[in-house]
Amino acid sequence: MGIIVQKFGGTSVADADKILAAARKAIRTQQQGHQVVMVVSAMGKNTDVLVDLAGQITSNPPAREMDMLLSTGEQVSVALMAMAITELGSKAVSLTGGQIGIKTDNSHTKARIQSISTERMRKHLDDGHIVIAAGFQGIDDDFNITTLGRGGSDTTAVALAAVLQADACEIYTDVDGVFTTDPRIVAEARKMDRVSHDEILELASMGAGVMHSRSIEFGKKFGVPIHVCNSASFSDEPGTVIGLHSESQDRPVSGVALTKNEAWISLADVPDQPGTMDTLFSKLGSVNVAVDMIVQNVGEGGKAEISFTVLESDLPTTLKAVNIVAKDLGGVEVTHEANVSKVSIVGLGMATQTGVADRMFRALADEAINILAITTSQIKISALVPRDQAMKALRAVHGEFELEKQPGDRAAFGNKSTVTLQPSPVDVVDRLQRMEDLTIDDIQLDETQGRVTVSQVPDKPGIAAEIFEAVAAEEIMVDMIVQGTGRDGLANVSFTVPMEAVSTATEIVRSVAAQMECGPVTSDPKIAILSVFGIGIRTHTGVGVRMFQALSRADINVEIVSSSEMRVNVVVDADKGPAGLQALQAAFADVIG
Ligand code: ADP
Ligand code: ASP
Ligand code: MG
Repeated sequence: MGIIVQKFGGTSVADADKILAAARKAIRTQQQGHQVVMVVSAMGKNTDVLVDLAGQITSNPPAREMDMLLSTGEQVSVALMAMAITELGSKAVSLTGGQIGIKTDNSHTKARIQSISTERMRKHLDDGHIVIAAGFQGIDDDFNITTLGRGGSDTTAVALAAVLQADACEIYTDVDGVFTTDPRIVAEARKMDRVSHDEILELASMGAGVMHSRSIEFGKKFGVPIHVCNSASFSDEPGTVIGLHSESQDRPVSGVALTKNEAWISLADVPDQPGTMDTLFSKLGSVNVAVDMIVQNVGEGGKAEISFTVLESDLPTTLKAVNIVAKDLGGVEVTHEANVSKVSIVGLGMATQTGVADRMFRALADEAINILAITTSQIKISALVPRDQAMKALRAVHGEFELEKQPGDRAAFGNKSTVTLQPSPVDVVDRLQRMEDLTIDDIQLDETQGRVTVSQVPDKPGIAAEIFEAVAAEEIMVDMIVQGTGRDGLANVSFTVPMEAVSTATEIVRSVAAQMECGPVTSDPKIAILSVFGIGIRTHTGVGVRMFQALSRADINVEIVSSSEMRVNVVVDADKGPAGLQALQAAFADVIG
């Protein structure tokens, strides 16, 4: 008899009727011959109410007490759910995270799971109980209650499914599954039947989306089948399966995501020398801030400009840390922009097709939306836009890629190449100790690419579209794209292409740059790209730090950085590639899978 984990989100347990409906669903599943573990969230918007209450007392609540407070929301739900099941004639027991034995580290409000004991749950299951677990909480070594971060009940559910080796983890929520974008913002959004772990990880990044991204990391690491379904549907409709496969690898874009509340921080006049990135990101890692889009531009006179985004809620902590670093480095100017949002297109097919980026940039340009920064990973392109244009940007991009249509009905375009994706490492972890530890799957050196940089790009819509349309017209496959707007309002746009295409790309881009009143175009016929990839790359703030530290110790300067949920890429000098690879292999020796 297999185990099924069923998670019910806040709206799915918002009132007594909904709790009873969820209870019936679990009982039905049990009657079909399964053992059932339910994971429930706080009722409705209860967690928000608690956060608000704390805010009425203090603007700076101690994190430990915040966890003590927030964990009560889930405790209410589990108790009511157990009563509902008992009332309906079945056996149930509610358990808090601590009672189950969900051990976490002690980073309050964003704790990570270290281990989960299955003994107590199994005993109750074997006694015929439905086990009802409080979502989003755990306990540290000193018996303090911890929480996993907002939206963390998904992570509890998938983690329990992993340790119990459940047959499935069903996520019941208030929409029919995972959509091509948030259906509340874009009415045309379409429910996907299938989505791969990698795609949803990128879609869910920085907390934007239907699933807590750490839950997907678990799903991928432990090979847990996840089904997202609507709790209000009576017919048990299939919803969306999150697994190894995408709906279509022929169409480049599967979904579009918006991270509304981001902030952009820029450091100008940074000494362009090994070790600077290391100092900066060590500091941010030490205050537990996860950095998102990172852009480094090498300016004139050996000075660099480093910019990055963080969640707006992390801005005060970030600025405090950055100002300390800036002071230590001397002469560094720090600026920030809070009203920005990130729009990202995601798709497994993107890694093998030309002409994707330019279509995104054109769709934005046609709506007169200015792009402040661009970063890419193999399966994602992100553009930072002014927040007041974010919704318009999301709709424009969703429409451009015809995501409202079934993948088979969308128009084909572009040119396919033969790049192959890394297979998902579902079996890399055979131990459950320190479950949320970082896993590095591989470290790679790519010596096939060269770089083109357009400098002093004016701050107005449409230029990125012109540049990448011209490159796509030659069917040149662009790998990394990095753009960041500096303090003078001018941007540098750098991108990498196969070595043999560097001179053609440079020539084409020179003529576009001249027309668009950009500055000089430079290129490097050969560069080295070092990539570290694995699970938990962005959420473990230490990865970038370790990378930059290892490279700086080997006296290797980082020219361009791009990062995603699964990967950090850095561009270094062509002849530093092998030494860089060695340095990184040594630095990650203890976590490589
Ligand atoms: P729960 O309380 O069940 O955990 P959440 O509010 O955390 O529910 O997540 C469900 C919500 O996620 C939906 O109501 C929807 O507005 C939002 N959402 C954002 N992006 C997507 C997407 N791509 N597909 C489906 N829902 C999405
Ligand atoms: N109740 C918590 C929150 O609102 C956890 C969750 O619902 O996943 O963030
Ligand atoms: Mg949620």
